[in-house]
Order: sequence, then structure tokens, then C-alpha cells
Amino acid sequence: MSTVNLSTITKSFGSVTAVNDLDLLIEEGEFFTFLGPSGCGKTTTLRMIAGFYYPTKGKVKFNEKDMTTVPPEKRNTGMVFQNYALFPHMTVFENVAFGLKVRKISKTETKKRVGDVLRKVRLDQYIDRQVSQLSGGQQQRVALARALVIEPDILLLDEPLSNLDARLRDEMRTEILRLQREYGITTIYVTHDQVEALTMSDRIAVFNFGVCQQVGTPTEIYNKPVNDFVAEFIGETTLLPITYEKTFGEKLIFHSDGLGDSIHVSNTELNIAAHEENDDLIMSIRPEAIQIDSNHGENNVFNGYVSLVQFTGASVHTYIKINEDITIRATDLNRGPSTYFKEGTEVSVYLPEDQIRVIPKA
Ligand code: ADP
Ligand code: MG
Repeated sequence: MSTVNLSTITKSFGSVTAVNDLDLLIEEGEFFTFLGPSGCGKTTTLRMIAGFYYPTKGKVKFNEKDMTTVPPEKRNTGMVFQNYALFPHMTVFENVAFGLKVRKISKTETKKRVGDVLRKVRLDQYIDRQVSQLSGGQQQRVALARALVIEPDILLLDEPLSNLDARLRDEMRTEILRLQREYGITTIYVTHDQVEALTMSDRIAVFNFGVCQQVGTPTEIYNKPVNDFVAEFIGETTLLPITYEKTFGEKLIFHSDGLGDSIHVSNTELNIAAHEENDDLIMSIRPEAIQIDSNHGENNVFNGYVSLVQFTGASVHTYIKINEDITIRATDLNRGPSTYFKEGTEVSVYLPEDQIRVIPKA
């Protein structure tokens, strides 16, 4: 087990800066996720930790040891690649044993360790099968076993579930978490999928254009996004530009040009700091916080009509069109057909003031 400490690392490819001045401290035994859209520098960062790339600038440390230019085979990291990078015409055993052979581990020891790890990933029945004869999910498990068998200090996973169908993806999330907890291994997980990040991680770093936007636990990132990029990338939200008007007792009052009215917001520390420190302000409100036709006060109430109702099974999305430019989405748990709104119905929406986050534009 090991901590991973990245201090102001930058990686440039010619004129492209893939990762820019990144500082991160990943704790021992932590499940840490790099989340962000395609091209934001997640894989490049992971490869600098694995040693496949050396940073243009900055340092990579494991515990307090400087690893910045140590070659990959001397780092004791286990990596699972997006496309698995298995040898298709070799057996499961041969694939998993590969890293041990390179490390010149004895045949008896290799047999024991491969057997153990295949039991852990529930593939011991398939030990003599050719990898090309396995399903996608099984190949995924072989890739995991191959990374784990060398008993790495750090496990690195680059979008390991992106080639699987939805049901299998869900199953493998739980499987990977179980293995991570069992081995207690420091794990860095790369994904562009917010649900994976929220459900699996101890902490998440959100990336955009090679820059880390925010680091926090899943609930911190979801409930307290630091800017509009994070608010929009993680979960659904309605974002509206606002301008500060005044402070009134327990409230901050803003104006929304889009809604043509004032917006009342709780004067939390975060909301106060956001408006004191920034000129370009946005309000963010999550769809599950929005109330339709509820018994509300007179502030933060807007009239519109239901433009679309989407049934997802567990929940119902109701889109309320306020004007030409603004449609607000509300999400409710499915409480039965009698509670669904009909498209075209005139309704009011209420935006509770303690549910609105004032954030700067990224
Ligand atoms: P992500 O994994 O988040 O999708 P990457 O780390 O792969 O992003 O890429 C970040 C940026 O760096 C992209 O603009 C990509 O085109 C560029 N890049 C990555 N690897 C190389 C490389 N070997 N040569 C040139 N550009 C690269
Ligand atoms: Mg990538």
C-alpha cells in the first residue's frame, strides 16, 4: 500500500498541455477517481503515475519516495487498460501469470498465486480457457486478476467498464469495489461516467481541459460544486446566470434576467463567498429540489406549463417550460400514475431558497 503524491505536475505534447499544474494527494487504501470528459487529461495523469509517461514538470511520489522518472516495471503498480490489452490466443492462466514470469517468480509460487487470484475474481473454472473464448465481462476479470496477481502497491484502472453493457457494468462496479476493499489497495480509477464516480469513490477529482476543478467526496462534489462545469458534469442541474442585488436579513437577493424576477437564496457561507469573490455568477438547483404546484411562499415561484414527462421507472422527470429560453426539469420518485403531470398542464414551480447554490462561472 502506498500514498500517491502529485506535486504541480504538467505534461505537454508539443503545443498541447494535456495536464496542467496538477496537485493531488491520494491516501493509502483510498478509492480515488479521476472524472472528466474525453480529452481532459485523465489517462495522461494515470500514465504518469504508472511511469509510461514522465511529467514535463513536477514530481510524482509514492509515500515519500520520488518516483518521477522511475521506469514502470520498478513501480509495483498494477494497471487495467481500457481495451484490457490481454493476449487473446493465450489461456487465462498464461495471461495472469505473465507479470510473474517477467518477475522471475518460481513455477510453484506462480501456480499458487494465479489460482488464488482467479478464485478472488471468480474465474477459477476458466483457468485453461483461451481468452478469446471468454465474454467481455470475463475478459474484464482476467485483466483485473492480471493486475492484482503481482500484489501491487497501487491499482490503476483506466475506464475499465466502458466496453461492457449496462447491466454488466453495474455488476462489475460492485465486484471491483469488493476486490478493492478485500485487498485494501490504493486504487486510482479513471472514468467519464458520473454514476461510476459517485457510487464507487472515496474521493473524486473532477478534470476539465487538463486542470483539476475540484477534489472531494461524492456528496461534497454533488452538493457543493465549486463552479458551473462541476455542477453540470455531475448530476443534472438547472443553471441560470444571476446578478447580486442585496442582502436582506437571512437571505441574499439576486436577479435573474432569464426569469425576469428576483431570486431569494439562503445566505450560507458558500453563497456569500461566491458572490463576494466573483463577478460572473450562476445559480444551480438540482431537479430533485424543485417543487411543482406545492404549497410555497411568494418568492421563487414561476409559472409555466408541462412540456414533457419522462418515465424512467424509479423516477419521473417533468420538464416545465417557463418561457422561450428557460425550461426547468424536476425529478420526483415514482409515486404512482395518479401523481404524474400531464403534458400541457399549467403549473407553478417553486425553487426553495435553501436548495439554490450560487457558484462562479468556470
Ligand atoms: P482523457 O483520458 O481524459 O480522455 P488524455 O489524457 O488521453 O485524455 O488526453 C489529454 C490530451 O492530451 C488530449 O488533448 C490528447 O489529444 C492529448 N494527448 C494524449 N496523449 C498524447 C500523445 N501521446 N501525443 C500527443 N497528444 C496526446
Ligand atoms: Mg482516457
